[in-house]
Amino acid sequence: MGSVGAKDVPELLDAHGKRIDGRGLHDLRPLKIEAGVLQRATGSAFVEWGENKVMAAVYGPREVHPRHMQQNTKAVVQCRYNMASFSVDERKRPGLDRRSQEISKVIGEALESVLFVEEFPKTSIGIYIEVLQANAGTRCAGLVAASVALADAGIPMSDLVPAVAVGKIAGKLALDLRKEEDNYGESDVPMALVPRSGRLVLLQMEGHMTRDELKTAMDMGVKGCEKIYEIQKAALRNRYSLGGNGGGEAQ
Ligand code: ADP
Repeated sequence: MGSVGAKDVPELLDAHGKRIDGRGLHDLRPLKIEAGVLQRATGSAFVEWGENKVMAAVYGPREVHPRHMQQNTKAVVQCRYNMASFSVDERKRPGLDRRSQEISKVIGEALESVLFVEEFPKTSIGIYIEVLQANAGTRCAGLVAASVALADAGIPMSDLVPAVAVGKIAGKLALDLRKEEDNYGESDVPMALVPRSGRLVLLQMEGHMTRDELKTAMDMGVKGCEKIYEIQKAALRNRYSLGGNGGGEAQ
């Protein structure tokens, strides 16, 4: 949430209830997913979601490095989310800062909940997420890309994990915030769903909203996730159907 003088705050909703990019409150940004885009990784996926561009690559299951992290009863899920220096307006200092560490942890835990890690003891599953261009919602885009990359790698999992943020802008709940809405809106609630079980495996909140608003926000997020899930499945179907180009697309 940014703090700026009132005159600097852009108008997030116009008189017709349209957002800066012309969307309605329940609309997702255009989302395109391509599975299997990298040759060297076990599995991969590229996501273009609004102005976000995110690559996910998966290695494994393979030997654990460093060895002392090995677990006898399950695979270790090692997730690294990284934002490229050129992904934001002002060059981002390279390297693993606290924000990337936190996002790596929450994405890794969300994905571990759908992976059959017990089937691969003493191994590691490496998940690498590179944000090439950021425009808010990158942890969700990272999760969407990484779960398709895991499926592309053929790693057994119970489901894909669609994710989206719901926020509050100009007093109204809105699906899938873009950067200005994230900066100047009242709140941002990213969430991730396991559609088959109906479980939420990531839920965070920045800013403020009432309990009733949070309930509505969760319903909006779940509906958004269901749409994203279809696009994830289409990307995998295209990848493995003859003549498919690996893409799933919305809007
Ligand atoms: P998310 O990308 O999951 O929404 P945040 O809410 O932390 O995560 O960030 C919102 C947006 O703010 C990012 O998508 C990115 O556009 C921008 N941002 C985050 N970190 C930085 C940074 N270090 N420098 C510039 N912009 C950043």
